[in-house]
Amino acid sequence: MREKRVTERWTICEKDHVHWGAAGGAGLLFRYTPEDGEESYLLQLRSRSVDQGGTWGIPGGAIREGESPEAAARREAEEEIGPLPPYRVMRIDTQECGAGWRFYIVSADVDYPFPAFCVHETDATGWFTRKEMNNLRLHSEFRKWVDKTLT
Ligand SMILES: [Zn+2]
Repeated sequence: MREKRVTERWTICEKDHVHWGAAGGAGLLFRYTPEDGEESYLLQLRSRSVDQGGTWGIPGGAIREGESPEAAARREAEEEIGPLPPYRVMRIDTQECGAGWRFYIVSADVDYPFPAFCVHETDATGWFTRKEMNNLRLHSEFRKWVDKTLT
């Protein structure tokens, strides 16, 4: 099912970090805002077989050559948590490692907290408020972004 391309591999950048995806990576963060309540975010418990397995993060993966970060994030999310409802991309943030490798966080709004599945590289999924995230073990890079961006 998962077609392997040259860009979907580990790569070592000039700072000697090991990164997944020669053309960078991208992930999709869904947000649901109820009319009279706190907004919540869809997170994925990363399976043991992937980098920082056992931590919570967002579905995502390697960007293929010629693919936009948004398209890559969508493709990876569908592969990992199943079909997605319509959504609106609100912002795209970039995390840069300091030597040119980038991970794009695509933030999108949905109209309801849709059920997500554990299809691939996913041990669990759940909707969490920002406050609840404080009690989760988050992927370290995602944690940095959350602390900086979600207030
Ligand atoms: Zn790097």
